Amino acid sequence: MSTQLNLILLGPPGAGKGTQAARLVEDFNLPWVSTGDMLRAAVTEGSELGIKAKEYMDAGNLVPDDLIVALIVERIGEPDCSDGFLLDGYPRTIPQADALEQALRGLDRSVAATLLVELDDEEVVRRLSGRRMCVKGGHGYHLEFDPPKHEGICDQDGSRLIQRDDDVPEVIRRRLAVYHEQTEPLAAYYEDRGMLKRFDGSRTQTEVHDHIRAALATLRLEDSV
Ligand code: AMP
Repeated sequence: MSTQLNLILLGPPGAGKGTQAARLVEDFNLPWVSTGDMLRAAVTEGSELGIKAKEYMDAGNLVPDDLIVALIVERIGEPDCSDGFLLDGYPRTIPQADALEQALRGLDRSVAATLLVELDDEEVVRRLSGRRMCVKGGHGYHLEFDPPKHEGICDQDGSRLIQRDDDVPEVIRRRLAVYHEQTEPLAAYYEDRGMLKRFDGSRTQTEVHDHIRAALATLRLEDSV
């Protein structure tokens, strides 16, 4: 089995997975595979998948496993994923994790580590309800923690800032309930396999990033001995 960085980022919505993913893909030159982004792109395109996925996403529910599994199995088989990848937002259920394991096994590969960024519910609600994104480049802001210089406008490309449809309080609460019910059991799943690394998502972005880097450095060291 090879020692590729096939990584999973796990954690509740708003724990900072996207922020950490952006840094890690740059550090390790990995493709960033975000099922949320893939689904939002499908919705924007109006593809068959997008039309099916939209109603689940708008309600804060998970898109059915069969749709997602097909999408991800195809994606990780693409050439840019052959030396490693960073999964952000997948797996979200045990069947998704099983499907990933099986697909990787078929390629003689395995998950190198699952990085769990933990954050309590109260903080999740606070973070998500203030989150804004620009319409053009998807640059992220937060009304309280990282406001743009000019209200409602992206500092980087001048485009309009919007709130994700699923970042409104009622849907946030539903997404959290879904996380606890369906996704949190994955922590034990990966812990049992000796693949889980936990990080405190209430620390600063830089601290979390440093801790992840340190954990991955240890992992590579262990692999090389
Ligand atoms: P995210 O951007 O990761 O928070 O994902 C936004 C929404 O897309 C979720 O609330 C789900 O409706 C859907 N979604 C993303 N990834 C998955 C997944 N692995 N399984 C099922 N639904 C997903």
